[in-house]
Parts: sequence; C-alpha cells; structure tokens
Amino acid sequence: MASNGKADLDVIIIGAGVAGLYAIYRLRKQGLKVRAYEAGDGIGGTWFWNRYPGCRCDVESMEYSYSFDDDLQQEWQWPERYGTQPEILRYLNHVAERFDLMRDVQLETRIKTATFDCDSNLWTVSTEQGATISAPFCIMATGNLSTPRFPRITGIDDFAGEKYHTGLWPKEGVDFTGKVVGVIGTGSSGVQSIPIIAKQAKHLYVFQRTANFSLPARNAPLDPEKERKHKEEYVERRKAAYSTPFGIAGYPPPDKCAAEATPSEREESYKAKWAEGGSISFLFAYKDLLLDKEANDTASDFVRDRIRETVKDPATAELLCPNDHPIGTKRLILDTDYFETYNRDNVTLVGIRSNPIETFTADGLQLTDGSRYDLDAISFATGFDAMTGAMREIDIRTDKGADIRAKWEDGPRTYLGIMVAGFPNMFMVTGPQSPGVKSQMILSCEWHVDFIADAIAHMRDNGLSHIDANEDAESSWVEHNNQVADSTLYPLANSWYMGANIPGKPRIFMPYVGGVEAYTNKCKDVVTKGYEGFRLA
Ligand code: NAP
Repeated sequence: MASNGKADLDVIIIGAGVAGLYAIYRLRKQGLKVRAYEAGDGIGGTWFWNRYPGCRCDVESMEYSYSFDDDLQQEWQWPERYGTQPEILRYLNHVAERFDLMRDVQLETRIKTATFDCDSNLWTVSTEQGATISAPFCIMATGNLSTPRFPRITGIDDFAGEKYHTGLWPKEGVDFTGKVVGVIGTGSSGVQSIPIIAKQAKHLYVFQRTANFSLPARNAPLDPEKERKHKEEYVERRKAAYSTPFGIAGYPPPDKCAAEATPSEREESYKAKWAEGGSISFLFAYKDLLLDKEANDTASDFVRDRIRETVKDPATAELLCPNDHPIGTKRLILDTDYFETYNRDNVTLVGIRSNPIETFTADGLQLTDGSRYDLDAISFATGFDAMTGAMREIDIRTDKGADIRAKWEDGPRTYLGIMVAGFPNMFMVTGPQSPGVKSQMILSCEWHVDFIADAIAHMRDNGLSHIDANEDAESSWVEHNNQVADSTLYPLANSWYMGANIPGKPRIFMPYVGGVEAYTNKCKDVVTKGYEGFRLA
C-alpha cells in the first residue's frame, strides 16, 4: 500500500526506457512507492525495439548517457564515437542492475487505459491482461518514437515473404543472405540499415519516396585521450549543456550569417565539417542556416554536390538529391557509406514519388505503372506515429469527461510538454512542445523527471495533492511554440515533427525549437514563481 493509504502505489510510471528507468531511481530516492509498466519483455524502450542492422545513435556516445551519477559516467566505457544499439541496450541494462531498478519494473505489461477520479484524486490504469493499479500520480514515460507504423497500402497482408519493421526487429536478428530484399523508407532507420542489408542480400531494391539529407558519421573507435579529457570535464560539460540549443556542450555557437562569408569561405567551412562528421557542427556553420532559405541553400547545395560526387550513376545520384526541404528541417541523418552503397551492382534505387506502390502481392509489390518487383523479404523503415502516438494508444480520460484523443484531435496541447490541462496529476516526460526530440534525449529525460519529482516533493511538503496545468498557461505555451517554429524553416518540411508522415494527422509542429537553454530557463522561472501556470490544490 502506498503512503496515502488508498492506492497501490504513489506513482505509476508507464514505460521502462531511458525516462522510466530514471524516474524509478529518482522518485524512489524521495521515499515514494513506484512501479514502471513496460510492454516489452526487456527494458530500454527505443533501444530495446530498434534492433535493425546498423542501428546506432546519432549523438556521440560520450554525450548520450545519464549524468545523475558521477561514478557511473566515469566508469562506463564506450568503445566507439557513436554507440550501437546493442551497446546502448547493454548500458541501460547495466544501469538497471547497478541501481537495482528491476524490482520496480513489470515487463510484458501494456497499459490500455488510464482514468483519473477527481474525488479520490487517483489515477487507475488497466493492463492488457486485465489488472488494475491505482496511484495519485501517473507519469507517461512512453517515448516519442515508440509506435511503429506500416504504410496503409492494399495487399500488405497478402505478401507471403518475410516482413519486418525496423522498429520491431526480431531479437534473433535476420539473415538476408541470398535473398532479394526490398527496403521501403529512407529516413534514419532506412539509411542506417541499407548499407548493411546490401552487403548480405542477393539483390536489394530501395523504394524511396523522398530523398533525405545525410552526412557522414565518421564513426571510429573512441580516442582514449579524448575520452580521458571528456571524463575529466564531465560534470562541467553536463552543466554547460543546459545553456546550449541542443543540450550538448562543446559546439561553439556560430556568430556569422552565411551571407557574411564568401562562397569559397563557405565551401571551406562546409568541407571541414563534412570531414569532421556529425550534424550539430554542420548546422552550426552559420547562425541563419535554419532561419533563412537562401543561407540554407548554400549548405543544401554543398551536400547535393557531395552526393553527385559519390554516386557514379548520374540518374541515381539525381534521385538521391533531396529537393523538397531545406537541410536540417527533417532530422539530419548520419550515415556510414549510405550513398556509396548505390555504387554496388546488387543495389537498385526505385523512385516511388511519382510512381507509388499500388499494391503488395503474394510475391512482392507492384507500382502504379504496373512494374512488379518479386521479393523474398521486405524491411519497412517507414517510421512512427511520433510524439503523440504512444499516448493516443492509451485511452486516457478523467471522470469529468476529459479525453486525451479528443483534446488532441487538432494537434497536441501541453504546458511545457510536461502536463496537459484537464488531466490532473499526470505528467509527461519529453512530451510534445518540449525540446525532447530536438535535444540530447537523455539530458531532457533527466530534466523532466527532476522537474516532476521536485513538483511532487513540493506538493507533499505543502500538504497539496492535486496539480493541473492552467488552460491559459497552456494556450500561451502552445502559441509560443508555434511562433518560435514559424520563425524558422522547420515547418517547410513534411516531417514527423509536423505529423506529416501519418495520413490524416493534424499538421502542427510538435517539438519546441526555442532551444534547451530558453526552455530550461522558462522551467526554472516557473518554479521560482511558485509553479506559475500550474494550479495546485
Ligand atoms: P522516418 O524518418 O519517418 O522515415 C520513414 C521513411 O519511410 C521515409 O522515407 C518515408 O517517406 C517512408 N515512408 C513512410 N510511409 C511510406 C509510404 N506509404 N510509402 C513509401 N514510403 C513511405 O522514420 P525513421 O527512419 O524510422 O526515423 C524516425 C526518427 O527516429 C528519426 O528521424 C530519428 O529522430 C530517429 N532515429 C534515430 C536514429 C539515430 O539515432 N541514428 C536512427 C533511427 C531513427 P517520406 O519521407 O516521403 O514520408
């Protein structure tokens, strides 16, 4: 029995990925009785499910880790510049074991409903197995890219070959040796997996609807000297990260606009950043790259030239050149030998923008012009119902008639990406309208969990049991988000940030792009002013 005597727990946590695990650790330290409910049969969230070949983080491994325990960050050793999926999952399992988190995790338990009762001030969640659990607080640690989506194309169930989704990859792995494989989708997951699948498959067909910008990752074993220095500065670097746009220290912000440099200076600058690898450094070449289309064109043109230089067949190179969005307005991809892969004899790029897939068949698929592709296996790298999908999959409502699906029908509305007005005592970790997906995710998860834990502590200290976001504060925050997004080039792209990848989803720019520094300052200000914009009772 939890401390209020009526409930099973003090806090229900939904999800045991990066956010849920830290929430267990942090809230337990406050003496709270918590439990995380996880659909998977292991912890790790995104890093548990996305086991596709080549899956690797696009944030450098020395950054992409927890900061809450200095011994942990000093002792853990990352072998490479960017962590692979198995390595990151190993790290998360190590954290779970090291801090004895598993005793408060219930695996293989998908939450179907969450209902708040205003009189008793309790959330009750029900599991797919039919159990119910109650607690005064509920935390949605459900992730932003956790609801994989297959395209809605006729005949998809008729395909008799092997069918995979990058976000639901089988644990035992897949051997494509000797097989004719189709990959549908050329976002980060497609771009990372295509070079590896190409090395195994007898033939690989890549079905591309939209060409994407991708930069070389330049992955390599971690330089021991770099690691030593980074660890020496870890504490200060983590602190400094909160005063940066993306939550990562070590990238001096640019002070020049692209037009202030000569064409040859720009070329040199982009060349150096291309050689260095990584996306932040590239996007930090000039301060107006994400604000001004002409400035952005200089960087976009540079990358298109590199694609033409790399890919030998001119028609394939042209098809691979992105031309419908400014660079950086969709997640900028990091790859290893992606464009080079199209020089292989066993790889064919098929453009499906003007000639879409009409139907799947038992043997493969058929395009609108009638051309057919016989395939032994299809890998769907078709993405996720991002940012709102996981919460909309749970039937979240209150006894006063609030319903999250209805409230978010025209797009998500949140206060700080932490609460939704009308849903008391329910918190989100890196919810929509927070910088989450536009930042170093683990840092943002820690920030939000700390904010939530502090709010609960404040309530307990002051004999309060009910917290909700103000409608007015929520509206102002949503408005501010939209204004900030509209002052950038981001809304020009048909990205999952805009909900544009899901047919019928409202087109609203969902992440906060004012930067981590502005956001965390706002959060601090809110707390200093007695949780301004929240109603506590
Ligand atoms: P994504 O970026 O949404 O890409 C999905 C791809 O599938 C796009 O090329 C899309 O084409 C295509 N597609 C979707 N529906 C289609 C249809 N009906 N017919 C044809 N093509 C279709 O998904 P993702 O690659 O899984 O990546 C999602 C996000 O996860 C990334 O942006 C990133 O933030 C994260 N991620 C990160 C890493 C990393 O850290 N390195 C790795 C993987 C993923 P359109 O563009 O035309 O819609």
